[in-house]
Amino acid sequence: MSDFAAQRARMVEHQLRERGIEDERVLAAMGEVPREEFVGERRREMAYADAALPIGSEQTISQPWIVAAILQALELKGSEQVLEIGTGSGYSTCLLGRLSEHVVSVERHAGLARLAAEHLRACRAQNVELMVGDGSRGVPGRAPFDAIAVHAAAPAAPPALLEQLADGGRMVVPVADGSEEMLTVLRRRGNEFETVALAPCRFVPLIGAEGF
Ligand code: SAH
Repeated sequence: MSDFAAQRARMVEHQLRERGIEDERVLAAMGEVPREEFVGERRREMAYADAALPIGSEQTISQPWIVAAILQALELKGSEQVLEIGTGSGYSTCLLGRLSEHVVSVERHAGLARLAAEHLRACRAQNVELMVGDGSRGVPGRAPFDAIAVHAAAPAAPPALLEQLADGGRMVVPVADGSEEMLTVLRRRGNEFETVALAPCRFVPLIGAEGF
């Protein structure tokens, strides 16, 4: 087993399974996707640290546990149309691609989106589509989505994204309230949204029309 594969297996056991992640599809995907390919040459050795890491343009790749918590809350079975806001390195995009039918991922930094595209090509992700722009408005032309993952903290669940969520669909978004941030899951039931607070968290801000 390569050193990275061994580190990845340990990450799945100690950072994820032992801390309450139990969706086997999520655990398997995170045991396969090479996180070291997404963090940049200089930080490869730290790829499996229990922490967020810088990826350039003042942005970060989230801590593995946070990525897993988001994926688990989306309850993906494999047939979903997914919208992701905040492609960043492309790591979460690659995982979403493995767990669903198709992913549209929006990133506001063109430079990060270019790098993410390279990483995703190297990992042979085929069912993911990258867009550059303000994802806080979603992608209305492609709605509805069965699952929406927002990887940047918003002042509230962005209304445009709620509108683009399919009935029964799930959205995960970090909601900032003063200095506190809460990873929040919203499930659509008709025009009602059931809301569950998942865990305190720390994300970069969602910058845009329905962000900060
Ligand atoms: N999921 C990523 C980490 C993303 S960090 C990974 O696995 O690497 C959050 C990202 O959201 C940053 O890259 C930031 O540029 C992006 N972002 C912030 N506001 C945005 C917006 N309105 N639309 C799209 N992307 C946005």
